[in-house]
Amino acid sequence: MPDTAAYRLLSKPGEPAPVSVDAYQRQGGYVALRQAVTLTPGKVLDEIRTANLRGRGGAGVLTAEKMDLVARSAEAEKYLICNAYDADARSLISRTILAQRPHAVIEGMALAAYAIGASEAFLYLRGDKALAEIVTTALQEARDAGILGRGIFGSSFVFSITLAGAEMGFMGGEESTLIQILKGRPAKAQQRPPYPTEYGFADKPTIVQNVETLVNLPLIVARGGDAFRKQGTALTAGTKLFTVLDGNGGATLVEVPCGATIAEALRAAGLQVNESNARGVAVGGMEGGVLPLAQLSTPLDFEPVEDAGAIIGSGILEVLPRNTCLVHWTMERMRFLARESCGKCVPCRVGVKRMAGTLEGIESGVGAQGDLVLLEEFSHYVPDGSLCGFGVNAVRPVVTAMKYFADDFNAHLNGACPTGTCLPVRAHRYATKHVL
Ligand code: SF4
Repeated sequence: MPDTAAYRLLSKPGEPAPVSVDAYQRQGGYVALRQAVTLTPGKVLDEIRTANLRGRGGAGVLTAEKMDLVARSAEAEKYLICNAYDADARSLISRTILAQRPHAVIEGMALAAYAIGASEAFLYLRGDKALAEIVTTALQEARDAGILGRGIFGSSFVFSITLAGAEMGFMGGEESTLIQILKGRPAKAQQRPPYPTEYGFADKPTIVQNVETLVNLPLIVARGGDAFRKQGTALTAGTKLFTVLDGNGGATLVEVPCGATIAEALRAAGLQVNESNARGVAVGGMEGGVLPLAQLSTPLDFEPVEDAGAIIGSGILEVLPRNTCLVHWTMERMRFLARESCGKCVPCRVGVKRMAGTLEGIESGVGAQGDLVLLEEFSHYVPDGSLCGFGVNAVRPVVTAMKYFADDFNAHLNGACPTGTCLPVRAHRYATKHVL
């Protein structure tokens, strides 16, 4: 696997994390911002464009293209929102970045704001008191050092960051929902267009960038976009963080070059996954898909992962132990997702619940062959009629489990759990059909 040392988003094991402003500056922190404010915003944006950086929040949109939409707006008032809310609460990504490198996040936000012409930003995270205290201290240090405020590094650049916390479950991390939360409105996803880049916070052009995306900006501006592109793939440059869940309660955060295979990321977490200890790997978090061991050579890049049926999503790789029944696993996923749907769209609100109920019947030994047809139909209805990415991706656990682990479903329909682990949870079937 290529060396990741050149572009490290995390501190090396055993190395003290540069949490304070002094420690961060001793490691070369704020050099990029000092340099950027002597350039035009367009020049900074060009460097980000050269770097081929793609958003790490899940969709993989080219960062420079999204920034350009706001930069080109004629509106004088523009906003930046750093999304550090891990939608899947099992993810270690945002909280580790903020706990280890809060000043790299502040610098990344300042660089993005400078490039798009914004002077106000929000740093939005989950309601984690300890983390909020670390970030509050870092923000105060940056203000005291003249890195936030007026006349940053002797330039005319003015920039401030407001810390915002929310605890709104899975949907709290969704782009349009978090803007609603910041506006003080109900936490419901919004119809797009208009996109936040035209009509966001305070109804002004707003860019929402994931914290992992922004923390790359100091590296790109300080070392150049061309150097950044040397890691990763032709489509996606740089490194990517993944939370590896070992299936036994252990969680490890790893940093690998974009395009490293699933097996390489698991090895980076110290796991040798094979037929003797695992059935598959769920990729992308609660809405991700489950892939069989035969797919461990899939490169961890947006397109190949999606071609396999999963998503980069929340950046979680979850090893499913050998005794996992995929019917039970899928049912648990859909039960969780049914609770998390914001309920605005009928296909998502009703469909995900119906899928969970149908899976409960199959798990309980009261399923019928027609239930598989029903699940297949719902796996189209739900994404086709959903307003936001939640509904689009919510069916992935079912679609991939039925595709790669069809034997588990057939075994249950024939009255036996393939791993002997499932217990009945329903006494009757859902008889609903074509409800949408
Ligand atoms: S798809 Fe689901 S989560 Fe998204 S807006 Fe519709 S009901 Fe809400």
